[in-house]
Amino acid sequence: MTPPALLEPVADLRSRGAALQVDVTAIAANTRLLSDRAGGALMAVVKADGFGHGATRVARTALRNGASWLGVTSLDEAVALRLDGIAAPILSWLNPVDTAFRSALVHDVDLAVPGPEHLAAVAAAARATGRTARVHLHLDVGMARDGAAPLAWARLCHAARMAERDGTVRVLGVMGHLACADQPGHPANALGRERFAWGVAVARRHGLRPPLRHLAATSATLTDPLSRHTLCRVGAGLVGIDPTGTTVLRPAMTLTAPVVSVRDVAPGTPVGYGHQWAAGRGTRLALLPLGYADGLPRCASGRAEVALHGRRCPVVGRISMDQVVVDVGSLPVTVGDVATVFGPGGHGEPTVADWAAWSGTIEHEIVTGIGARVKR
Ligand SMILES: *Cc1c(COP(=O)(O)O)cnc(C)c1O
Repeated sequence: MTPPALLEPVADLRSRGAALQVDVTAIAANTRLLSDRAGGALMAVVKADGFGHGATRVARTALRNGASWLGVTSLDEAVALRLDGIAAPILSWLNPVDTAFRSALVHDVDLAVPGPEHLAAVAAAARATGRTARVHLHLDVGMARDGAAPLAWARLCHAARMAERDGTVRVLGVMGHLACADQPGHPANALGRERFAWGVAVARRHGLRPPLRHLAATSATLTDPLSRHTLCRVGAGLVGIDPTGTTVLRPAMTLTAPVVSVRDVAPGTPVGYGHQWAAGRGTRLALLPLGYADGLPRCASGRAEVALHGRRCPVVGRISMDQVVVDVGSLPVTVGDVATVFGPGGHGEPTVADWAAWSGTIEHEIVTGIGARVKR
C-alpha cells in the first residue's frame, strides 16, 4: 500500500513562508570579542531560546569561541540543553522555590540561590539524591528584582556555609546584576559594584570561598572593567546587540518573507484595517505573509520598511496579525520575490535596531519576539 503523501506538500508550503536565518559566524565573532573584553571566563546566556536565535545553536557556537559557561533563567531550559548533548557547566537562575531541584542535581545544573528558603529547598533535593548541589549566591545589588535583599544576605551566607559543612551544597559563585549598565557612568553602577564587593566580603567572613564572582552582563563587559571580576555573563552581545552603543557587534539574524501577491492600484486606494493609509499615486502593492503574530510589532505601522529589489519600501496601512502590505512603487516586483524584513544592514536593508526604533522598544524585544510559525 502506498502511504498517503502528506509530508511533502506540507514541507513545501512551509518553505514558502517567512524564514529566519541565523549567521553563526557573527555569533562566533561576537563571542570572541566579548571573551577578549571579559578577560576572565565568559558565560553565554542563552535564555529565551538564545534570544530567539536557537539556544543550542548559540550555545555550541559560543562554547567553540571562548565561552566556558552557559546561563539560562529556568531549569527547564538548562535540562533541554543537556538533552541536546551539551556538557559544559550551566547556571540556571530565577527558579521558583518549589521547583523540582532534583532534576538540577541529576542533570548537573548549577543553581542561583536568592535566599535562605531557596537554599533549604536545594539542600533538601541534594540530600534526596545523595549529591552535592553547586550554587551561586545571588545578591540584589540594586534593581529590586531577583536576588537576596542585603538585609537577608548574612543569613543566606551563614546557611550556605552550614550546608557546605554537611556536604549538601558547594558555593561556587556569588552573583549580582546591574540595573543601569547600559548607561556607563550612571551612579547606580558604582553603587552596584560597591554593594557587590560588600556581598563578597560578607561571604568570605562567613567562611565561603566562591571561586566565581560575576556581576557584568553585556553592557558592563563592554564598558566597565571594574565590574568584570572572574566571570562575565553575556547574552545580548552574542547575537549582536550592544545596549551601550559603544561597540560594533555583528547582528546575526535575517528575516525574509516571499511576496505572495501583487496588485496595481489607482491613486486614492485605501489599504488595510481602518484605512490608515491610501495610495497618493498609482502604485504597486506587494503582500508579505507575516504580521504581528510573527513578531512584527503592530505599533511600527506607518514607519516600518522592508527591502525589495535592493530598495527600502514602506510597509503601508496597519500591520495585520498575519500579513503586511508594502508599497513598491514602480519596482517590477512579482510573486515569489523575497523581501528582507531585517538583516545585518550591509546591503541597505532595515536592521533589528530600525525595527526597535520604529516600535519604541529595544532590539532584545524584536529578536525574542519572532513567532513560532516563522521557519528557522
Ligand atoms: C539576561 C541576563 C544576563 C545577560 O544580559 P545581557 O545584557 O543580555 O548580556 C545576565 N545576567 C542576568 C541575571 C540576566 O538575567
